This record gives sequence, structure tokens and C-alpha cells, in this order.
Amino acid sequence: MIIKISNLSDGAHYYNFEESVNDLALNEFFVGNVNAEVELSKSRSQIVLNAKLSLKAIFECDRCNSEFEENVVTQYKMVYFFGVEPKEDSSMGITYLPLDSDKINLDNDVKDFSLLAIPMKKLCYEDCKGLCVKCGKNLNEGFCNCSQIEVDNRWSALNELKNKLNN
Ligand SMILES: [Zn+2]
Ligand SMILES: [Zn+2]
Repeated sequence: MIIKISNLSDGAHYYNFEESVNDLALNEFFVGNVNAEVELSKSRSQIVLNAKLSLKAIFECDRCNSEFEENVVTQYKMVYFFGVEPKEDSSMGITYLPLDSDKINLDNDVKDFSLLAIPMKKLCYEDCKGLCVKCGKNLNEGFCNCSQIEVDNRWSALNELKNKLNN
């Protein structure tokens, strides 16, 4: 994802990029293509770039271990200054470009911000019931026998009590 800036006029410019996740080395969780909608605003001394990234990911659910597909959408802003980077300045979101730069390459930022957008908690859906701790059955697909046995035990205990009371 490269934007040529050598003959770019001051003002707003719009781009749309589509690139395979493999080409960006994002293939651990992501599949298909990364789409980047880019809005770039250029002035004499700086370029402000706003990017919206959309990707498709395959995650493994933290609760039930099943794979699910999710659309990951994230945004980032990058300000490019022309000139040499001051030693003490290493803030995120600012990139210094050599004065004779004729292009900016978005690949590293697109990669970094896509990775940052991976959720800490991955759930196939919010109310995922997870797996039975006893038999490992996926409880989203229905009850397992373990829970029935527990219910049965409870009933039999109650019946025993009833019998005792009756006698
Ligand atoms: Zn799940
Ligand atoms: Zn079970």
C-alpha cells in the first residue's frame, strides 16, 4: 500500500487499497484481503492520514474452542512530518519523512494497527455457553447427560427425604 506524494497537491485526497493478508504477513488470524480506506490531507509541512481498516478474521472462541469468523474494523491516524526525527520524540502516530520522500508506504502501520485490533477476549457470541467441564460437550449445541444426571441426583435426594418424612 503505497501513496505517491511527489506531485501531490495540497488538500484532501482519497484512496482505497485492497491487499492480501499474506502479503502483509497478517495471516495468523486474518484471512482474505485487508481493505484500507484512506483519507489524506496534505499541507506544505505535513501530511495527516486517516485510515479505516477492515479485515476478516478466524478466531477460536475462548469458551467453547470453536472457530468463528469475525469482521475486524479499526481506524488509525498518522501524521507525517518532513524532516529529521528529533531524538527525544518517539510518539506513536507521528512519522518523520526524509525531505526528498516521494512516497509513503502504509504496510507496517496497517499491519501494526490490524494486530492491535485483535480483541483480548474472543467469544463466538456474547452468551456462548462454553463446554461442559465434565464431558467437554459444546453446550451451545444442547445439554449433555452430565447436567441431567445432576438433576436426577437432586431429585433422588429429594425423594429420599420425602420417604424419610413419610415414614
Ligand atoms: Zn463459543
Ligand atoms: Zn457434560
